[in-house]
Amino acid sequence: MNSQQSIHRVSHEIKRRKLQVLRVTDITPRMRRITLHGPELKGFISLGTDDHVKLLFATSPEEQAALENFTPGPNASDGPRPAMRDYTPRRYDAASGELDIDFVLHGDGPAATWAAQAQAGQFLYIAGPRGSMIVPDMFDSYLLIGDETALPAIGRRLEELAAHRRALVVVEIEDNAERQALESQAHVEVVWVVRGERDLLEVTRGLTLPEGSLYAWVATESALSRKVRRVLLDEFKLDEAAVKAAGYWRLEGSGEESSSR
Ligand SMILES: Cc1cc2nc3c(=O)[nH]c(=O)nc-3n(C[C@H](O)[C@H](O)[C@H](O)COP(=O)(O)OP(=O)(O)OC[C@H]3O[C@@H](n4cnc5c(N)ncnc54)[C@H](O)[C@@H]3O)c2cc1C
Repeated sequence: MNSQQSIHRVSHEIKRRKLQVLRVTDITPRMRRITLHGPELKGFISLGTDDHVKLLFATSPEEQAALENFTPGPNASDGPRPAMRDYTPRRYDAASGELDIDFVLHGDGPAATWAAQAQAGQFLYIAGPRGSMIVPDMFDSYLLIGDETALPAIGRRLEELAAHRRALVVVEIEDNAERQALESQAHVEVVWVVRGERDLLEVTRGLTLPEGSLYAWVATESALSRKVRRVLLDEFKLDEAAVKAAGYWRLEGSGEESSSR
């Protein structure tokens, strides 16, 4: 099996870029698309549908000073460092020189606070992606489970699937206004789970999985992601090699770490 047909990781040089906000578009009441551009976007690369970039935010004058020269990664300089948050490059268009990032406006934290006030002309520092996990379109079906933070990666995956693939998508959202149109050539079934009305774990347990070879991908709050993963492995007996579960954020006090592995 060559690398074109297997799940594999590709590393990229970590580059820090200073970009400018071109447009701000509200996709739903709680999801804001920020389109970035600028000369430093040239050469941006994002090969995996669940890639992430680090967004850098200064929360003090010391961090602001550090921000100008800071590059994350193993060789990062000591001293004050800006807050860093992981976000999915939702769309990169090399021809128009635009990068879209979709922000959940959850109300708190440097990233959500910045996104809530963002306006054209402002600057944002980004770094990465440092690597891409390539999952070639080689499975018959795809099970994609997540919350709003997972929608950018889910959207990218669905857009890449060939017409003869199947995808079962389960997304936990705040309310029905958060439903997004998801484009795909594949046969896609989307189950929207309104938080507080139905339980994502119970909905997962009740799924009838598509037939054939299956790749499962999970991204939601860290503790919940781990539970969903266990259901997929223990109850559905899915092959561990074809299940990827990530914690995309951490509920305060849960003791969980978010992870992009
Ligand atoms: C690989 C990867 C890709 C991601 N891609 C995206 C993306 O494309 N779009 C996106 O919006 N998010 C994405 N996330 C999630 C995002 O990184 C987290 O939500 C992050 O915590 C937001 O940072 P913040 O500064 O707004 O809040 P923080 O300072 O991290 O947290 C402040 C408070 O808000 C709470 N909180 C954080 N996120 C949420 C949330 N989503 N809902 C409710 N409460 C929350 C925390 O529990 C905490 O109490 C991704 C995460 C990973 C690991």
